[in-house]
Amino acid sequence: MKTPIHATAILTVGDELLNGDVVNTNASWLGQTLRGIGLPCETVITVTDRKARIVQALEQLWQDHDLIIVSGGLGPTRDDVTKLALLEFFDDSLIRDMRVLDHVTQYFEKRGRSMTDVNRSQADVPAKATVLFNDLGTAPGLLFSQRGKLLAAMPGVPYELHFITMKRLIPELEKRWKKSERRIHQRYFRSTGIGESELSDRILNELEIRIPNTVDIAFLPHPQGVDIRITQINGDSDHDFEHFTNWVRKTAREFIYSDDYTRSLADFMVELLTGKKLTVAFAESCTGGYLADALTDVPGSSRCLKGAVVAYSNEVKTALLGVDAADLERHGAVSAPVALAMAKGAAERLKADFGISTTGVAGPGGGSDEKPVGTVWIGFWSASGPRFACRFRFTTERRINKERSFAAAMDLLRRNITGISGYPQRPEVVMASQVKLL
Ligand code: ATP
Ligand code: MG
Repeated sequence: MKTPIHATAILTVGDELLNGDVVNTNASWLGQTLRGIGLPCETVITVTDRKARIVQALEQLWQDHDLIIVSGGLGPTRDDVTKLALLEFFDDSLIRDMRVLDHVTQYFEKRGRSMTDVNRSQADVPAKATVLFNDLGTAPGLLFSQRGKLLAAMPGVPYELHFITMKRLIPELEKRWKKSERRIHQRYFRSTGIGESELSDRILNELEIRIPNTVDIAFLPHPQGVDIRITQINGDSDHDFEHFTNWVRKTAREFIYSDDYTRSLADFMVELLTGKKLTVAFAESCTGGYLADALTDVPGSSRCLKGAVVAYSNEVKTALLGVDAADLERHGAVSAPVALAMAKGAAERLKADFGISTTGVAGPGGGSDEKPVGTVWIGFWSASGPRFACRFRFTTERRINKERSFAAAMDLLRRNITGISGYPQRPEVVMASQVKLL
């Protein structure tokens, strides 16, 4: 017998989401969270703060989905009409929940604010709903259960939504729905150093003979790499899924740095460097401090990052990193000798095991035929070798060039430390021995 797989939908309510005043982060956060528990979202609808429109959307979603999560409009103000829409949809009426009333009363007392009837009405909940207690705010979450289907309505304030989802809703879901009823077979591999199409070619060329027909594979590119997502379409055959997943992992091994979707390249690098007791220092021109910024997003990065010099001008490259003015004059700042000298300066002056530099044409203007916009030299200087510079061709977008520089720099380091030969993105490579450094 085929295992039933629950279909999930998200309904976000609010004019501010439609007119662009507020970015709909609740939808993306819920999408990620649902996927994480094996209930990937199939539909997202956003509607205006009008009761009739909310009811209409609920009717539409209720037909094809087993779980609907509603966010927003649960508050006590005039524009919050979600509760009224739910009453109409479920043909329900309000009852006062004394536990919620107690909580709301204390909430106002603690803040020394007086409570109005409008605030008190937060404790009036639909009789058919189970309250998902909201420790952080006044509007509780509401869970309706009918004929095996579930609907959870939660306040729009993101941190309240996060709290209620994690602490109240997910435990309820775990209780009511067995794991086998969820689409739990989903695996991610995070890769870097290879483009989306090349990676997919590499895997898909062999795919025809290998892919089980219940399995789906997707390539999700972003400036720091490509995520590979493998999904099992129904939950029946673990063996095929595991077999295929292992095969993908093997085929793309060189590029995969993590199989945990929540871990970033920076997370991985901090762990790798710290684990091996290695340190790195940056000399940043075109990235303007981005490399250090991205690495210091990770707690514990102080154990592996010695520091960074943002050497934007030639004077700073010379004075703080020891780049020879004659090299700057002869080759220009965007060149292999300068990238190497910067990396050397960072490693030696900041006393790190590795020095990594960036110097490039960030764009959108300022390019030439010889050095078009997006040209970035990354210098790599290891105290014990190797020492080289790579020339990459990125994009015309400044911000993306910074992110891609970070990814390439980290990949050079990852490959070096873990003993993977080759370079990310097939750059032009100049070894230090080919360049005379003073
Ligand atoms: P409250 O009791 O605070 O009124 P509520 O359920 O009525 O809660 P809303 O009034 O819809 O929630 O929104 C409260 C806040 O949360 C607003 O600042 C709104 O911009 C923000 N918000 C609402 N929906 C979303 C969303 N989908 N993504 C991000 N922020 C949101
Ligand atoms: Mg509100």
